[in-house]
Amino acid sequence: MTSNKSEDTPARVRFAPSPTGMFHVGSARTALFNWLWARHTGGQFILRVEDTDQSRTTDDALDSLMDGLEWLGLDWDEGPGVGGPCGPYVQSERLETYSSHVDMLVADAQAYRCFCTPERLASLREQGLKSYDRHCRDLTVDQVEEKLEGGETAVIRFRVPFEGTTTITDKVRGDITTKNPVIDDFVILKSDGFPTYHLANIVDDQLMGITHVLRGEEWIPSTPKHVLLYQAFGWQPPVFVHVPVIQGKDGKKLSKRHGAMAVTDYREGGLLPEAVVNFVALLGWSPGDDREHMRLDELVAAFSIDRILAKPAVFDEEKLEWLNGEYLSNAPAEELFDVARQSWVDEGLVTQAECVERRDYLLKVIDLVKSRLRRTSDFSGFVGYFLSDPAEYEPKIAKKRWKPDQTALMVAALADSYETLDPFTESSTEETLRTCAESAELSAGALIHPVRLAVSGVGIGPSLFEMLEVLGREAVVKRLRAAVAQLG
Ligand code: GLU
Repeated sequence: MTSNKSEDTPARVRFAPSPTGMFHVGSARTALFNWLWARHTGGQFILRVEDTDQSRTTDDALDSLMDGLEWLGLDWDEGPGVGGPCGPYVQSERLETYSSHVDMLVADAQAYRCFCTPERLASLREQGLKSYDRHCRDLTVDQVEEKLEGGETAVIRFRVPFEGTTTITDKVRGDITTKNPVIDDFVILKSDGFPTYHLANIVDDQLMGITHVLRGEEWIPSTPKHVLLYQAFGWQPPVFVHVPVIQGKDGKKLSKRHGAMAVTDYREGGLLPEAVVNFVALLGWSPGDDREHMRLDELVAAFSIDRILAKPAVFDEEKLEWLNGEYLSNAPAEELFDVARQSWVDEGLVTQAECVERRDYLLKVIDLVKSRLRRTSDFSGFVGYFLSDPAEYEPKIAKKRWKPDQTALMVAALADSYETLDPFTESSTEETLRTCAESAELSAGALIHPVRLAVSGVGIGPSLFEMLEVLGREAVVKRLRAAVAQLG
C-alpha cells in the first residue's frame, strides 16, 4: 500500500521508546533522526512513552531516557501536560482510547476473543507451531457469551485475512510484500486490559497525526501487521522509513565494547553532547558530500530522508573521539569551564573554591590545551601540571633530555634571566631562552626540551612558550629551580 502523505509539508514525527532498558545509541539515533526531520521541515517532534508491556517497563529505563534526551538537547513539542513544560504522552495513561478502538474492530468482526490458556499456547509451541492455530477464530457469538459468563479470560486477536498479500512501502527499502497466511492472528488487547505494541502504536500514530515513522529496521517484520490494522480501520498509513542497523567495525552486532552503552555513559566518558549528536547523525545518514564535522544547525538544514542509507551503519569509536576533539578545540573556553572544572575537582587537583578564585587562569589553561584533547576527561589526565607543581619527572624523558654536565647550569642561568623578565610573555620567554642557548653555543632545542620537562614533568604538551606565559613567571622560575635541585 502506498501513502499519499507528502514529504514537503511540515512533518509530524514521534520517538516512541519502550522504557525497558538503558537509552543507548540505537535509540538515540532513532530519536535524533525524527527530531532532525521535524526541525528540517518545520514540523513537530512528539515523545511517546510506549509502556504497554508493564512487566518490562522500569523507572531506571525511563530516567535513562529522559536524562539522555535532555543531555542531547532533543526537545519535544507537545504533550498532555497543562501549563509548564509538557510531559510526554504515556500509553499507560491512554488505555481507554485503545480499548474503544479494539471494540470497534471486534464489533466489525475484524478482531475476535481468544480464550486459549497460556498452557495451551505453550503446548502449541512445544509441538513446533510457530504461530497461533486460530483455534478461537470461529467461535460463535453464543460460544463467546458462554465462556465470558463462565468467567474465562480472553485476549483479543486481529483476524488476519487468509488470502492475499500485504505490501509495505518503505522509503529506504522500497516495497516489501508478505503473504497474509504467514502473518499470525496477533494479539491486540491483552487479558490485563493493556493493548499490545502493534495496536497502541498505530492508534496513536493515527490520532496524533503522525506523517512519517522513522525507526530501526528491526521493526520491519511488524509493519505488515500495522498496515493490516490501518486497512481495518480505513486509515491511510504514514510514510515508513526504516533505518539500518548499527554494527561494530568488525561487522558484528553492537556490543557494550563497541559503544552500546547508555547514552549518558558517553557524558561520563568525557564526550560532549554536540559531538555525540554529530556522530549519531552520521550513523546511517550522509549529507551527500564529504562533510563529517557538522554543527546542529547544519544537520537540520541538510537532513533528508532520501539520504538515509540501507547498508548497516558502522560505529567507529575513533571517529567519535576525533569529532569530540574537533568540538573541544572549537569551543570557547567559557563553555568548557564547567566540564573541565568538574574533571579537575573529581581528580582532587583543585577545590571548587580555587576554581572560582583562579577562574581567569583556568580559562587560559583551557584555551591553551583544548585543541590537544579528545575527551573532556583528558583535562585532568594531560594537564594536571597547570594546577600543581610536577611531583616527578618522566624518567625516560629525563634520561634523554637532561644532560647532567650542561643542562642544570643552563636551566639555572635561564631561571636567573626569567626572574627579572618583564613582561613575561610567549615572545619574551622565547627570545630570552634563545639568547641563553646562543651564549652557551648550544641549539635552542638543547634548552627547550629540558625546560618543558622541568615545568611540566612530561615530554609533550602545548607550545612551550605559550605554556610559560600562562603558568607565569613565579611558577616557572620556581619549577626551573626545583628541577635543577632534583635533576641537576
Ligand atoms: N515502542 C517501540 C520501541 O521500543 C517503538 C517502535 C516504533 O517506533 O514503532 O522501539
